[in-house]
Amino acid sequence: MRFLNKFFGDNALAGVDGELVDEMARDLLMAPADLVVAAHAAGAPELMPEMMREIGLDPEAIQAAMPGLYRDMAATCATCPSRDRCEAEMEMGTAGKRVDEFCPNAWTFEGLK
Ligand code: SF4
Repeated sequence: MRFLNKFFGDNALAGVDGELVDEMARDLLMAPADLVVAAHAAGAPELMPEMMREIGLDPEAIQAAMPGLYRDMAATCATCPSRDRCEAEMEMGTAGKRVDEFCPNAWTFEGLK
């Protein structure tokens, strides 16, 4: 855990609870350190709460109410193949309108509305 904490100041998992990182890594059958590296490369965990806000969801409330579901979505996001498009759509301000076209979490988000 100390190893992970070294990264939290400036990496893509900043703000993500270390225990959550460990659980996500277990779900993905990855070492926590590998997940940190992958997430850093992808920048994806930062995108999920941003996307949730874009479509009117409250990520903090959902994480508090449904931590297991939130962890599963974050794991999906951490390995998302659509990261580049997601970032581009965020920058264009179109992510929320087009989320169904590219986000592997779209159906889950829809169910949370
Ligand atoms: S498109 Fe991918 S990176 Fe963007 S919020 Fe959805 S799962 Fe995360």
